[in-house]
Amino acid sequence: MFDRRLPLLLLGLLPAAALGARQGSVGHTTWDGTRLATLAGTVPSADGAFRLPAGEEASLLLPAPGPFRSLGFFWHGAPGRVQVRLQLADGSFGPAAPLAEAEDLNEGARGPGAAAGDATVGALHHAYGQSAVAVLLEFAGPCELQDLSLVWIVPGTGAVPPPSPVPGAGPRGYPKPPVNDRASWGADPPQCGYSYSPVTHIAIHHTASASEYWSTSWSECASNVKATQSYHMYTNGWCDIGYQYLVCVHGQIWEGRGGGDDVVGAHDGYNRGSMAISNMGYFHAPYNQTLNAAMIDAIGELGAWKCDQQGIDPWGSSYYLGYGGTMTNLYGHRDVGLTACPGDLAYAEMDTIRATIDGKLQGGGGGGNEIILDTDSLQTMGTWYTGTSSVDKYGSDYLWTSTGTASRAAAWWTPSIPADGWYAVYFWWPQGTNRNPATLLGARGPGGTNTAIVDQQHNGGQWNLVGTWWFPAGSSTKVGVVNDGASGWVVIADALRLVPQ
Ligand SMILES: [Zn+2]
Ligand SMILES: [Zn+2]
Repeated sequence: MFDRRLPLLLLGLLPAAALGARQGSVGHTTWDGTRLATLAGTVPSADGAFRLPAGEEASLLLPAPGPFRSLGFFWHGAPGRVQVRLQLADGSFGPAAPLAEAEDLNEGARGPGAAAGDATVGALHHAYGQSAVAVLLEFAGPCELQDLSLVWIVPGTGAVPPPSPVPGAGPRGYPKPPVNDRASWGADPPQCGYSYSPVTHIAIHHTASASEYWSTSWSECASNVKATQSYHMYTNGWCDIGYQYLVCVHGQIWEGRGGGDDVVGAHDGYNRGSMAISNMGYFHAPYNQTLNAAMIDAIGELGAWKCDQQGIDPWGSSYYLGYGGTMTNLYGHRDVGLTACPGDLAYAEMDTIRATIDGKLQGGGGGGNEIILDTDSLQTMGTWYTGTSSVDKYGSDYLWTSTGTASRAAAWWTPSIPADGWYAVYFWWPQGTNRNPATLLGARGPGGTNTAIVDQQHNGGQWNLVGTWWFPAGSSTKVGVVNDGASGWVVIADALRLVPQ
């Protein structure tokens, strides 16, 4: 039942098993076909495989050696259609997601220590809110498995706030967008050295993990990135996480592989000369998750910075060194391999991505002329306190006050608007269970008054779009929050972002 490496791995897994532990761990358990068949109540095949004919179903509840957060797979055979549900510590079951191949982990060479050997590797599944203790696998035949291994991951994660934007180095000076760096997600050091090749191409991938798209917070995404790194290094024996960058459902950009510009990744089997951006989700049937506007904008920002820096035409084609032939400068994984990656619905956006990058570059840099204002430029009325303890804050601090007090408190920015127009308005706050679930924010000026209600108990640590409002040029409009509402809650003022439309 157990892989012979397990006793050693268990030692590593159990002490750090608490959800959110800083110290991560990863190990796997292998069930051979005979054992799977016995558990499923079917007769084992003479050759030791677990077989289900078409039309037959079987459910297996497989326990983990300790609490875990993320689950991966590798197998020999053809599992067919399998639904995966994580059993959580309280006994409940999480939502079902398909057992999907992690296309990018089955491309190119594995390292010498790869736990998966020559097996097919599956995509990750994540538990949110509490640890998982077991997994329920619902098989629908036809299925034929020689063996199935489950990879138990406790990612651990750092808790460092997102860094500030880094100035760009391209001829147009297009800035590097804000990126959650490796420290922010608690990256492990690489297990071998990096190699380098100038970037000429940008590759678009997906992680094929439906549960990553269900993440509700910055910290969950940080843990997902950390689990991905553990998975890539453990199953495939890669030096580090394969992708140079990942983009989550919130439009946050995550630094993947270390080593900086021009580091060679591991993502399409060719790698030399390409920079991989992987979208965290499952962008084809049966889940059909889609690249939302925040994700496309994030890819656009990252792409515009890199295209400017390297002189890449987002609409052009050129020689891709690793591939040994001509390839569009922006390509989807399936353009260079037999794979569903990056998913039909992401692949359908390739021209939108090219146009977004081109539009940003034609706009002459400046991050698409967006305006970001942090805590230091807030003006206040009433009583406000400076907070620093919430890890999902923007920058180094934020202001907070209480609802239901006798005196009104307000905190506002006065953005300098370059031109009359419509602006997408985003707010960032650190979330918490003591926060006001109905925080009133608004803009008031010569262009009129706009208000919105936001729930500061949720969606912390990210830019939240609250509306698209008209602003006149100049510095005549105030945008901010007030402490209106039922008493007993905390109201946060942290950061504002305006993006011209
Ligand atoms: Zn891919
Ligand atoms: Zn996220």
